Amino acid sequence: MNDKADSDVEARTNFLQEMISEDIKKRRFNRSIRTRFPPEPNGYLHIGHAKAICLDFDLANEFDGTCNLRFDDTNPDTEDKAYVEGIINDLKWLGYEPEIICYASDYFDQLYAWAELLINDGLAYVDDQSSAQISEQRGGFGKPGVESPFRTRHSEENLKLFRQMRDGAFPEGHCVLRARIDMQHDNMQLRDPVMYRIRHASHYRTGDHWCIYPTYDWAHGQGDAIEGITHSLCTLEFSDNRDLYSWFLGKLPLSDQAPYQTEFARLELTHTVTSKRKLRDLIDNGVVSGWDDPRLPTLRALKKRGYPASSVRSFCKDIGAARTNSRHAIELLESYVRVKLNSVSQRRMAILKPVKLTITNWPDDENGDPLVEWREVINNPENELDGVRLVPFSGTLYIEEDDFKVNPPPKFFRLTPGAEVRLRSGYFITCNDYVENSSGELQEIYCTYDPDTAGGKAPDNRKVKATLHWVSAEHAVTGAVSLYDRLFTAEIPGEATGDVMDDLNHQSVETLSN
Ligand code: ATP
Ligand code: MG
Repeated sequence: MNDKADSDVEARTNFLQEMISEDIKKRRFNRSIRTRFPPEPNGYLHIGHAKAICLDFDLANEFDGTCNLRFDDTNPDTEDKAYVEGIINDLKWLGYEPEIICYASDYFDQLYAWAELLINDGLAYVDDQSSAQISEQRGGFGKPGVESPFRTRHSEENLKLFRQMRDGAFPEGHCVLRARIDMQHDNMQLRDPVMYRIRHASHYRTGDHWCIYPTYDWAHGQGDAIEGITHSLCTLEFSDNRDLYSWFLGKLPLSDQAPYQTEFARLELTHTVTSKRKLRDLIDNGVVSGWDDPRLPTLRALKKRGYPASSVRSFCKDIGAARTNSRHAIELLESYVRVKLNSVSQRRMAILKPVKLTITNWPDDENGDPLVEWREVINNPENELDGVRLVPFSGTLYIEEDDFKVNPPPKFFRLTPGAEVRLRSGYFITCNDYVENSSGELQEIYCTYDPDTAGGKAPDNRKVKATLHWVSAEHAVTGAVSLYDRLFTAEIPGEATGDVMDDLNHQSVETLSN
């Protein structure tokens, strides 16, 4: 074994990697590893989806397999083409390319044919009861289920009714198709789950062709089988659906070995909600401006906020996959972003809350106008190759209001009356005076500069404790800046009252315009 193979084995640490490794060793599948990422196009992707995407795609890549993007579009009421396009773009931004892009709705014909097969085998029946009755009869843990009076219908009658359902003979809610499994099963999911319901709604892809739509459980595993998926990864809340997933596949005439489902923990972050429904509530209630509002954890918002996709990927890779739910600190994600940006970003100077600073001994040029000196400034201290740029320096500057204090608190090392500081790539300056208006608001600061400190270095090696950024007043351009803070004050939004809206940070955005 060469070094690379050795280190690959060592890096194979999470339980999903071990599982797939084992399946390959035991030749469980007669085909290459295939995974899929199955979003429902009823909203845009968020950071939680990024974790699922990284697992699905990275595992497939690691084991020389492929990963599909499959839209789980079985609910015509909430799904939309705009979300499909948005999700495709977000996935591309994150840096992944699916083997194929497919849709649960591609399989509606096959699913329908398989449903007829189950009906013929006595494994599915049309139930005329209301959904309320059906859920009432499902029972609960330790509470027996009640068999529907329609459970014993003959196959022929079921088939006739099912075709009538398909042909639009019944109004919504009139009946459903259910699998006939076991109304006393310990796993509630196997108590005769619904496979089809009637919806007289237009589907964004199939239009009005269908008025019956498969449930998630009936569509999902079958879609996996059609695509030859080997490992169907999903989050822990689907654990109870696993037996049903396998039950359906076990009843169908499949030529390949059936895929199987494995669950991993959802990604949760402090001060963040990662549920499409809650995100939609924030948008619908006008708390944020839309799916790309920089305060949201959607991928389009992170992109807008300037997060590098590679930081999101590294974060997801490093938190790995586990079998128990946990919440990661948002600061961890932010640290990945900071490390990356620190190494690749070109620096620029901007003043958010300006105060005017005049250098009283700054010279004039040969025409009698204040001299403008073009100072060389390093673009990125972390990367020499980013080079330098020239920035105009003059006798009238703006600095940050916060960088000056008349009465400094202890350990305040920036500018104060009498103090000397460095202006970045400029000169050392000493504050001699300042002006306040009648309400005590700072108007202007007066300094002198030391001409022997060009570039911010003193020939006598004397030290200053602060380096301030600045812009030349004459050359500065104005702009608006929005400062975003956390959207939720609580670490676990909604923990105290059950409503995330109670934990909103009402000062989560500040817009400055100068
Ligand atoms: P939400 O709860 O936000 O509505 P969902 O599960 O309904 O999410 P889907 O579009 O169905 O959203 O999700 C597609 C895939 O992404 C699923 O396999 C799901 O398990 C996974 N996923 C969704 N949220 C998370 C999360 N927070 N962490 C990890 N994976 C997630
Ligand atoms: Mg879902």
